[in-house]
Amino acid sequence: MSALELAPNGLRKFTVKLPILPEPEECTLGVQLSGENSQFLLLKAKLREEDPYDSPLLTRLSSVVTSHPIRNPEPSGNYTFYIKTYSENEGALEALVSTGIITAESVPPVKQGFVEFPLVKVTIPLRQMAKQCGNCERWELCSDDARMKVCSKCRDESKTWYCDTDCQMKHWKEGYPPHKRVCGR
Ligand SMILES: [Zn+2]
Ligand SMILES: [Zn+2]
Repeated sequence: MSALELAPNGLRKFTVKLPILPEPEECTLGVQLSGENSQFLLLKAKLREEDPYDSPLLTRLSSVVTSHPIRNPEPSGNYTFYIKTYSENEGALEALVSTGIITAESVPPVKQGFVEFPLVKVTIPLRQMAKQCGNCERWELCSDDARMKVCSKCRDESKTWYCDTDCQMKHWKEGYPPHKRVCGR
């Protein structure tokens, strides 16, 4: 395992090669912890300064599990979830495992109709998780001066994070859907 550098956003930085990318990209690892969109995300280590609309989101790794892919933290403080091993995820998993950021363990495939989909169970330390505001979608990547707060009424497996009270109140009433309709379910 090679030593990992810290990205400016405090997450560990590594280079990943994906079939969908023309060139290897430097990225960090993050997970979005918002209800319906919870996914395993790869975030760029650095934004292009010349492009004000550049987003830290590099790509999503897909899961074929229809239930919420992210479970409660285990007693160790780590999160585990299930993602598929093929097509757009191919190559990414191996890269992540070789950095030591995640561990991946084979589990029995899920069956959907006649087809079996191979899956791995991925474990990620809590400190490597990025958060995104449920209202304004701003990313918070740095674990040291983290400010975002979680909705305390959300069930553990689908927590929604907010920049501040304003974002939380706005999302509660005017979100798509309003958070009050989905929170706690
Ligand atoms: Zn916000
Ligand atoms: Zn909530």
